[in-house]
Amino acid sequence: MKFGTKLIHNGNEIDKNTGALSIPIYHASTYHQEGGVGKYGKYDYSRSGNPTREALESTITTLEGGDNGYAFSSGMAATSSVLSIFSSGDHIILCQDVYGGTYRIAKEFFNKFDIEISFVDVSDLSNIRNSIKENTKGLFLETPSNPLLRITDLRGAIKIAKEHDLITIIDNTFMSPYLQRPIELGIDIVIHSATKFIGGHSDVIGGLVVVKGQELSKRVRFVQNGFGAILGPQDSWLLMRGLKTLKIRLDYQQNNAIKLAEWLQSHKNVESVFYPGLESHPGSKLHLSQADGPGAVLSFTALNDEIALNFMNNVKVAALAVSLGGVETIVSHPSTMSHAAIPKIEREKLGIQDKLIRVSVGLEDIEDLLEDFNRVLV
Ligand code: PLP
Repeated sequence: MKFGTKLIHNGNEIDKNTGALSIPIYHASTYHQEGGVGKYGKYDYSRSGNPTREALESTITTLEGGDNGYAFSSGMAATSSVLSIFSSGDHIILCQDVYGGTYRIAKEFFNKFDIEISFVDVSDLSNIRNSIKENTKGLFLETPSNPLLRITDLRGAIKIAKEHDLITIIDNTFMSPYLQRPIELGIDIVIHSATKFIGGHSDVIGGLVVVKGQELSKRVRFVQNGFGAILGPQDSWLLMRGLKTLKIRLDYQQNNAIKLAEWLQSHKNVESVFYPGLESHPGSKLHLSQADGPGAVLSFTALNDEIALNFMNNVKVAALAVSLGGVETIVSHPSTMSHAAIPKIEREKLGIQDKLIRVSVGLEDIEDLLEDFNRVLV
């Protein structure tokens, strides 16, 4: 079955009890135990299991090609729960340009539990090799990275990780399972901020994790149930609804993004455009060897801070907002929004300048976007 069909036919398209073409929202915290004491049914308490959440979890598992899926109350809850499978004394390698929130919890939260984290420039694989120590247990990647769309060689990184028995984790938010399925390449754990392309409508915060392997699944499941950062049934339903149109949305948004990137590249007030759909992007070939498309997020630097500010403050056919992946075009300012948690000096080392603008391209007619961008890029 091809991906578009799987979005619709994945075992959760029909409610088995009623035939409804939409899984019911089970707003239940607890369940009567018909069998009596000691003979408990499949569901006992919704932190441990809820039929609506379970339908979403099994859908994302099918789409990513993993063994088990887990839904969390946010992308950060998903990331924090995954990082919680490690123990004190463990060392984890994180790619240096991870999402700012991931950087923050790694630097300011997990270090309290004696989990050692190294931020590494994984665009050069030898840096991964050189960072591995006796206590290294995990490798956490994000490709394309946020906000500069840098590309990591997934096959190469996974090969090194396997040689050293590291658990490989990837934040696949920018691509979604439609465009990149890292488990097929050998990744152990995939994380999504489902708030983004999976939800797709800027109306829900959620996180998803898909795991390959039963032993590793048990460790994530233990944290999900024990720590309890689960996704509620209403939001689970919203994500399932969003998923049904993932392919058609992304196809259209990606097409718009390609046109916008090409247009920006030739604009006199634009310094550089970062988008793996452009041939000029140094990671373009590598990206297209491990993903099915460049996606719908790009970033660019304006010629100077003043032009960047004028653009962000006056653009009309796009929202100025945190987040990405919705039906509407969203313009954001990484240095004061998604990556504000990273100290300025570190940000600048990473190339996240104040004149850098990230664009999540939406479903508008491209002519309207280009006209509006042209008006304010002055
Ligand atoms: N990962 C990436 C790549 C993100 O862009 C974000 C949010 O912007 C997150 C994780 C965190 O997700 P959430 O905001 O759903 O907690």
